[in-house]
Amino acid sequence: MTDRSVKSGVRASCRFCGGALFDFIDLGMSPLCESFVPEDRLNAAERFYPLIAYVCGSCFLVQLEEYVAPEEIFTEYAYFSAFSDAWLRHAQRYVDVMVEKLQLGPASRVIELGSNDGYLLQYFVKRGIPVLGIEPAINVAVAARQRGVETLTRFFGAAVATELAGEGRKADLIVANNVMAQVPDVNSFVEGIGIILKPDGVCTVEFPHLLRTMSGNQFDQIYHEHFSYFSALTTQQIFARHGLRIFEIEEIWTHGGSLRLHVCKAESEKHHTQRSVSDVINQERRAGLDRLEAYDGFAHQVRDTKRKILTFLIEAKNAGKSIAGYGAPGKGNTLLNYCGIRTDFIDYTVDRNPYKQGMYLPGTRIPIFAPDKIAETRPDYVMILPWNLREEIAAQLSYIRDWGAKFVVTIPAVTVF
Ligand SMILES: [Zn+2]
Repeated sequence: MTDRSVKSGVRASCRFCGGALFDFIDLGMSPLCESFVPEDRLNAAERFYPLIAYVCGSCFLVQLEEYVAPEEIFTEYAYFSAFSDAWLRHAQRYVDVMVEKLQLGPASRVIELGSNDGYLLQYFVKRGIPVLGIEPAINVAVAARQRGVETLTRFFGAAVATELAGEGRKADLIVANNVMAQVPDVNSFVEGIGIILKPDGVCTVEFPHLLRTMSGNQFDQIYHEHFSYFSALTTQQIFARHGLRIFEIEEIWTHGGSLRLHVCKAESEKHHTQRSVSDVINQERRAGLDRLEAYDGFAHQVRDTKRKILTFLIEAKNAGKSIAGYGAPGKGNTLLNYCGIRTDFIDYTVDRNPYKQGMYLPGTRIPIFAPDKIAETRPDYVMILPWNLREEIAAQLSYIRDWGAKFVVTIPAVTVF
């Protein structure tokens, strides 16, 4: 390899294995994607941090440096899960399946790491199954308690796990959905899972699949809140180091293609390793994810996408069209900041979450309104920022067809429909 340089800087080694880091993608300077700007702060400065991802040459963990402490990001968090219908259905189906599969009942315990506003645990509570949520964001934990979900406001890791195990609070099921990426110390987190898992207990872990992020050009999955980006190959090594074994892998639709790992203690005889594990790992090997070369092309692909998005926007504006956004998700903020899209292209965006309405997107300062604004202003295009929910949103907003408007998504490629 001639042009590959080892990353130099503050953190030059992998957060999991200590291996050397290599360049993956540089998305420029970006504010924290959940730090929405209130009206009275419009004249104030915002903090921008480098948004650069690296890949480890030994374990192939894709990762950001810890540019921002988790305490700064997650203590007050604007993301309330319970505002998306598709998410709630996904959560309810998961609960039905796991209760059946593990025969959970009033004598069991379910612990969720990163339990957010209790949107998932509420379905276990309804079935009379004891739960404990662990959620560092104080404002969302309040919402969880109002749903009857006991919630501990702490950052989960080996220390918290040891306390819980000491109180005899071990779990039959640990749920870790879309949380492992948000943890700087992934070793402490996974060690903690091993500590609170009962001998034949199961932990399910969901995360956007790095293979899909790369093949689907989903660069907007990368933001400061996500310190790590996982493949099955890498997570298998991480769990193995802490005495845990992946025994089943499901491929699911969330976040543009995610994996749900089913993990148990390495020595558990109750759970046999299923073929789905080697199937996914072989798929990753075929895509070259066990070699550094496979990670080289992503940056070129992303820069090409940026030019195509800007070309579409420039042509639409030259033709006198108006464009509104739909949604204010974290991924939208990566996209808009990286591409430099502000109110010169997108007049405003809308979001169903009242917490975000009346605020402005970080960095780009695009105003956020309630969804009614679209019917009021009748834009020519509605750009769906949470493209992974495009069907649900297009169905909700089908009325824009009445005035001849069209939807736009930008990932994996610019598509007008
Ligand atoms: Zn590594």
